[in-house]
Parts: sequence; C-alpha cells; structure tokens
Amino acid sequence: MVEVHKVNGGGPTHEGNVYLILDEVPALIDAGMDAKATIKNIEKLIDPRRIEFIILTHCHHDHTAGIPALKEATGAKVLIGEGEVCDLGDDVATGSYLYQEEPAEFGVDGTLEEGDVINLGEWSLQVIQTPGHSPGSISLYEPRAKVLFSGDTLLPHGNIGRTRRSGEAVKDLVRSVERLAGLDVLVLYAGHMEPTDENVVEQMRTSLEFARTIH
Ligand SMILES: [Zn+2]
Repeated sequence: MVEVHKVNGGGPTHEGNVYLILDEVPALIDAGMDAKATIKNIEKLIDPRRIEFIILTHCHHDHTAGIPALKEATGAKVLIGEGEVCDLGDDVATGSYLYQEEPAEFGVDGTLEEGDVINLGEWSLQVIQTPGHSPGSISLYEPRAKVLFSGDTLLPHGNIGRTRRSGEAVKDLVRSVERLAGLDVLVLYAGHMEPTDENVVEQMRTSLEFARTIH
C-alpha cells in the first residue's frame, strides 16, 4: 500500500508543498523552502537516504529553494520538466526576487517530458506537460490509484495557480487545466493548500470554469 505524506511545514506559509511517496522506490514531489523542517519530517517516516528521486513540478523558488539541502540529505536524483531547465538560476523566472533571495543553485540529473513514466514500484507516475503557470510545468498522474500531483497548475477547491505572464501563457494555462480536469482523480495533491479527496472531479471542474474566466 503506497502512502503519501505532506512533509513540508514549519516554513513560511507560502512555501510550496513537499510530498513524500512511500513506495518501493521512495520519492519526493517538490522541495519547498524550509529544507530543515522537511528533513525532520522525513526522518520521522524513513531514512532520507532511501529517497531516490526528487521530482520538481516547476522551477519556482517556493518549490525549489530547499533543493540543495534536500539533495545533500537524500542523495536523490533531481528531475524536472525539460522546458523548465533554462529558467533555473534566474531570479525573475524562479520568482526568487519576490523573497529577496538568490535562486537555488543545483544540478539537474534528468529531464522529463510528456509521456515519460516514473516507475516507483506499485505506482507509475505519468508525466503530463502542463505549461501556463510556468513554461515547463509538469503534473504527475497515477492512473491506477487515480492520484494527481498538479503542482501549481490546478489547486484544490476551484483554484488555479496564476501566471505572471499574459497572452499565450494564459491560453496554455487554460488548456492545461482543461487536460487535468478531464482526468479521473480521487486524490489531489497540489503545490499549495491541503491535499483533498472530496469530490475532486467537481473541484477540478470549478477550477476549469475559473480558468476560462481569466482567459
Ligand atoms: Zn509556482
């Protein structure tokens, strides 16, 4: 039985969520900002060195600032969407300037694109490219468990992650939300807010309606 734990916490409230997937191959989704608190939470569950992958949904600072310390504590491989690599290390693209911080510096061990599958044992995460919130944002879907890690593309209770860009990016975002809203999802693990398993399909439909109003 695969377990998912939200392991960030103690950090700033705007910090992105960090999820620990406990499968045969343990993996983290995103890295948040307060790595110290995250590592403490992981240690309550497993030896951090057992974690093999840190999969980033996108490059934004509130999801990646914790990477250098988490990489050191886990020795895990860092994976990110192919279209997102060029924005790493850029204070505007990562939004690190919003926090008066330098962007996190780290190496990427592999890139992901549409259709890639990350096999964790019982679960196989399908990579879905969901541009809009950022150009190379990805979401991860587990079709058998009907679980979706949506990053900041789609958030619970009818919310979406905004884009600071306009024009084509907004169209991309609407298309991406449309794709995710078409999936059969029982549990939604988004980049912010608490995970939810209440009428997720309905919640996602509301997100889509909302996305269309900003289009
Ligand atoms: Zn973001």
